[in-house]
Amino acid sequence: MKPIEDCFELLQSQKKIFITTHHKPDGDAIGSMMALTHYFLKKGHVVYPVSPSEVPDFLLWTPGIELVFNYEGEPKMVEKLIAESDIIFCLDFNALNRVKSLESLLQNATQPKVLIDHHMYPSPSFDYGTSDAAKSSTCEMVYDFINLAGDNALIDTTIGACLYTGAMTDTGSFRFPACTASVHEMIADLMRKGLKQSIIHEEIYDAWSERRTRFLGYILHQKMEIFPELHSGLITISQEDLDKFDIRTGDTEGLVNYPLSIAGIRFATLIIERKDGIKMSFRSKGDFDVNAFSRNYFNGGGHFNASGGQSSQDFKETIFRFKEILSEFHPSK
Ligand code: 5GP
Ligand code: MN
Repeated sequence: MKPIEDCFELLQSQKKIFITTHHKPDGDAIGSMMALTHYFLKKGHVVYPVSPSEVPDFLLWTPGIELVFNYEGEPKMVEKLIAESDIIFCLDFNALNRVKSLESLLQNATQPKVLIDHHMYPSPSFDYGTSDAAKSSTCEMVYDFINLAGDNALIDTTIGACLYTGAMTDTGSFRFPACTASVHEMIADLMRKGLKQSIIHEEIYDAWSERRTRFLGYILHQKMEIFPELHSGLITISQEDLDKFDIRTGDTEGLVNYPLSIAGIRFATLIIERKDGIKMSFRSKGDFDVNAFSRNYFNGGGHFNASGGQSSQDFKETIFRFKEILSEFHPSK
């Protein structure tokens, strides 16, 4: 992969730019994709932002979200857009299987692919890019990219709101260890440019439906197991639970963190039975490496303290197997 600045010369003249991010996009995925979209539009390019799956409700306020194509919703349109694009930007994922149904389209595309991402171990699928697991968020890296291009002056409150979203959501509202001084410097810059941060917090954290709030209560009361001696907690959600509360994409975002708010718990797991398979999320505090845990046992990956994976067994078998593994691999204190 060539350094990202080498792709600047490809962007000297007006280009058709296809930008995509991971399946089931989160705040950093949509924030980084939309920040880059607004920036490239300001530079006079034609931009096609594409999400592999539906944008969750809590991100629908994002400026410019109406420009986003959902591949699952309009596959033919997206096939046409990728075919006519000149260059492809891949944000907040580093292996092509993270875009699920869009994978073969990306795999077969012959245009240069540019990676901007902060997960560990990027696959060799990209021609240009920047990959840095020490970065808080892909949004921070898009900010760095715009600065590297010498375009800090083009960052306005629209781009700022998008960048803020990913930096905030990927750092647990600026509290995880990955939230370095450079994140706060970026936020200070965005605020000096007029960013109103409290509105973004409200849009994302105070816009729950009654249904989702009651679902949280049900899950914490009925579906969370705590294993104090293993310093671990587990939340399991069946398809029946999802149906009962009419739970949609994005409604389970953040649930995995709740066990970590209990004193002494340093490893939290969420197992969800979805129509398309068993999805697992792992979070930890301190020196327990959940990236290795999910890579070793659940065909996944991510970051040291936040990762995800899947299981090909059924829901009950997965829970059983997870507990067996947990009895051996868990934080020691
Ligand atoms: P989440 O639990 O929110 O789905 O994911 C946590 C982190 O792990 C995210 O940064 C996400 O990109 C990454 N991740 C989630 N699922 C997978 C997976 O199946 N494979 C890999 N390599 N990373 C994943
Ligand atoms: Mn991210």
